[in-house]
Formats: sequence, structure tokens, C-alpha cells
Amino acid sequence: MQRSGIALVICAPSGTGKTTLTKRLIAEFPRFAFSISCTTRAPRSGEVDGRDYNFISPEEFKQRRDAGFFAEWAEVHGNYYGTPLEATRVLLAQGRDVLFDIDVQGASQLRRTIPGARLIYILPPSRAELESRLRGRNTETEESVARRLQAAHIELMQARWFNVWIVNDNLDQAWEHLRAAYLAATLSPDCQTDLLDELLKEWSVGAK
Ligand code: 5GP
Repeated sequence: MQRSGIALVICAPSGTGKTTLTKRLIAEFPRFAFSISCTTRAPRSGEVDGRDYNFISPEEFKQRRDAGFFAEWAEVHGNYYGTPLEATRVLLAQGRDVLFDIDVQGASQLRRTIPGARLIYILPPSRAELESRLRGRNTETEESVARRLQAAHIELMQARWFNVWIVNDNLDQAWEHLRAAYLAATLSPDCQTDLLDELLKEWSVGAK
């Protein structure tokens, strides 16, 4: 039985382990396609146009945005980011599951433009633990740790309207919870629209 694709949005404050968890999801379930966003920021070393992002100019971005090209868009750290609507719809119609790594402003728009999108929020176990993980990266200055903790406070206040909360206290347990949340989504009737009709048909055939 062919089921429809699931749009899975995963948000988390910086330092919560989102990247590790999403990589694991894609590695275990090849049915996932990663949504490739458009951005106006410059490519970082190692990033490939069309694979990591579609890198476009601010003028091009605004033109596309005004033409309704994006399912959602946001300005993050002074750059624009947006998710192409049509490409997403095509993947979902093909039965692919689509994973979105977008910020909370984008997630709130996607709830409306992609009805049925599942919104998962990864929470840190505590403020102290998040602070210690940010420091442990050794890439953050004191100022950037303080900035990220402040940003986390604002982002956590948006977690209320998500469908699933996962606390990343222990990575293996957070992974089990993410996997369970995804598998539960695949069992929803919205995702298996023809299943019951096909089953019930057997009764109408049997009744003849
Ligand atoms: P980076 O520039 O480090 O790749 O991403 C910066 C932030 O932009 C991350 O929080 C990421 O989740 C967010 N982001 C990436 N693509 C999109 C997008 O298409 N839409 C929105 N709203 N945010 C995005």
C-alpha cells in the first residue's frame, strides 16, 4: 500500500543536538528527502549549490517571494531563507517524506501552507546543560554563548504550539523518541488514506 509523504519539521535552539538527530533519521530512513532551501547568504566552504542550499541574490529572493514561490520564508541573522513550495508538494505527492531544518518563524508558516506537517521541537534538559554544551564546542566566544542562550530563551517560548517535544538529555533516548514520533506519524489515517477503503472493498466483494 502506497502511503502519502510526511512533512517533518524539526526545530531546536542551537546546541540541542538537532543536526546529529536529523542526520540519523535520514541515514535510517531512505524514504526521507531533505528540503533544499533558498538562501541569500554566501556559501560556506564545502557547501554545494543545489545540494546544501540554492544560493540566490536578495533581488531574486524577493522576486520569488512576491510571486508566491515559497511555502515559508524568514530573515535569520540578516539573511533570507525560504522553502520552495512546489518542489515540496511534488516530493510529498511522490510519497517521499520531507525533512525541514527551518527556524520557528518558518515552522509557524509551514503549518498553514503544508497542512498535516508534523512539528517536532527538541528541548535541552536544562539551561545549565545547554550552556555547558555550547561552551564544550570550543568554537563559541563568551559573547556568542550569551547570545545563543538569550536566543534559546526566545525560541523555547515558541515550543508550545509544536506537536511533539523531545528532551535531548541522553542522545540515544532522544533518538528513540524521535524515531517513535516519526513511526507514529506514518500510522496516522491522514498518511494512509486508501488503506481502509481498500480493506472495506473486500467486504463489498464478499457480500455479492
Ligand atoms: P545556516 O545559515 O547556519 O545554514 O542556517 C541558519 C538558520 O536558518 C538555521 O536555524 C536554519 O534552521 C534556518 N533555515 C535554514 N533554511 C531555512 C528555510 O528555508 N526557512 C527558514 N525559515 N529557516 C531556515
